[in-house]
Amino acid sequence: ILMSENFQVIVIGAGPAGYVAAIRAAQLGLKTACIEKWIDDNGKCKLGGTCLNVGCIPSKALLDSSHKFAEAKHDFSIHGISSNDLSMDISKMLERKNKIVSQLTGGISGLFKANGVHSIFGAAKLLANKIVEVTDPSGKKEQYTADHIIIAAGSVPITIPPAPLVDDIVVDSTGALEFKSVPQKLGVIGAGVIGLELGSVWARLGSQVTVLEALDDFLPAADLTISKETFKTFKKQGLDIKLGTRVTGSEVIGEGDNRQVKVEFTDSNGKTEMLFDRLIVCVGRRPLSENLLSPDSGVNLDERGFIFVNEQCETEVRDIYAVGDIVRGPMLAHKASEEGVMVAERIAGKKPQINYENIPNVIYTHPEIAWVGKTEQELKAAGTDYNVGIFPFSASGRAMAANETTGMVKIIAEAKSDRILGCHIIGPSAADLVQQVVIAIEFGASSEDLALTVFSHPTLSEVVHEAALAVSGHAIHIPNKPKRS
Ligand code: FAD
Ligand code: AMP
Repeated sequence: ILMSENFQVIVIGAGPAGYVAAIRAAQLGLKTACIEKWIDDNGKCKLGGTCLNVGCIPSKALLDSSHKFAEAKHDFSIHGISSNDLSMDISKMLERKNKIVSQLTGGISGLFKANGVHSIFGAAKLLANKIVEVTDPSGKKEQYTADHIIIAAGSVPITIPPAPLVDDIVVDSTGALEFKSVPQKLGVIGAGVIGLELGSVWARLGSQVTVLEALDDFLPAADLTISKETFKTFKKQGLDIKLGTRVTGSEVIGEGDNRQVKVEFTDSNGKTEMLFDRLIVCVGRRPLSENLLSPDSGVNLDERGFIFVNEQCETEVRDIYAVGDIVRGPMLAHKASEEGVMVAERIAGKKPQINYENIPNVIYTHPEIAWVGKTEQELKAAGTDYNVGIFPFSASGRAMAANETTGMVKIIAEAKSDRILGCHIIGPSAADLVQQVVIAIEFGASSEDLALTVFSHPTLSEVVHEAALAVSGHAIHIPNKPKRS
């Protein structure tokens, strides 16, 4: 085994947690290496992790393409636009998605070069005494040492025994980004964020989609007002979401192009089965900690297999950190990246701390669903007194002009201080609108602060403004429920 150079910082994994940590560490003048094992079709190292290769970016590319198709098909006519000869070229759609992915992953290589991050290709394993062993694709091993190590190895899809993956018939989220044709009947196991987004892509392109969800509640982490409205909206769009439905088995039947998958599940009626042309298994993701830590590395996992860290992402070994999907907290790219930045800066002697209470969540369906902070049900359970302001997009001039009147903005503020505690949105551009309230919360704003802010007219943002006004019963463009003056 070759023993090579020492770095001030070694980052394991080049997803949004790792590559961002590496760039920030290098910016701060630290001699930094980033190790990544992802191989592209030509045997070359591919940076960007789940997010860029098979996650956030490709799924959004397909969501945007399929949304344009569905909009042209169903919603253009109201504007007086006819589109009779509409068709969808799936291979072109996939080609566009792949091009965006290559552009972005290639862009990270460029950023590494520009910032002086050493890129190392291979699978890393953390040994004792801050030694990292890297095995390259040919099997050659090399060892590096570091003053500080940041583990950012990410996560992979969970598979469940009743639905083992089979070729391109029973697939995980990665396979669902690659369907070469539109399945007529598509089953999705799991009504989480990823299942809903991927189900929406193929439903818009013509699949008849059934989502099988074990839980009785739909989107239990979302505010109840929003999850109810979302369920209703998806149903109208033709997504058949079966709650309280646990998949217990599956079997691929038929031959060649005629293969189908028979899915067995239990619901309130007992045992049932359904036949699908394809099945997507979206039952969550798990931390990727296999072959990553030697037993004497000193780094420990928690009971669910995540690397155990504190609020500053420190493991139990001094100078070894872990960030992103491989540690506790929401499995989100922006959370991962901010942890990467926090750790790089702490290594350089700064003292930033992520505000874990203020991380936005988004579901990129149409309309989008987005939220931040506390839900009404959480505040009720905690016995906090609060006021709520709701404003519907149907009362917004701009939303009407855009033919996007489904949904609402809901803002919750603490009763006594009026400090904003949460914002919950279903509606057009919800992801971008919620960010305004994320900023407000970060600055400790009250709903009155937002209410006193000037918003351009006519914009979708005015719906945020009116919801803030509604918290104290001052909304202008809807009748208010009686509240304090
Ligand atoms: P990853 O992105 O998983 O990166 C980890 C990297 O480490 C990988 O490249 C892996 O190859 C590498 N690695 C692992 N082990 C080793 C090793 N031993 N040696 C060397 N390298 C190693 N999040 C959002 O915020 N918004 C979205 O819209 C969104 N959409 C998603 C859609 C889909 C379909 C999926 C699957 C996920 C989506 N996510 C989204 C989640 C997001 O992708 C993850 O939260 C994010 O990628 C986590 O970043 P990470 O750097 O921690 O891990
Ligand atoms: P998430 O973890 O948010 O990505 O969502 C995954 C969803 O899959 C959760 O809501 C789980 O309840 C659901 N799920 C897990 N196993 C099954 C199963 N066997 N049948 C149906 N749904 C499942």
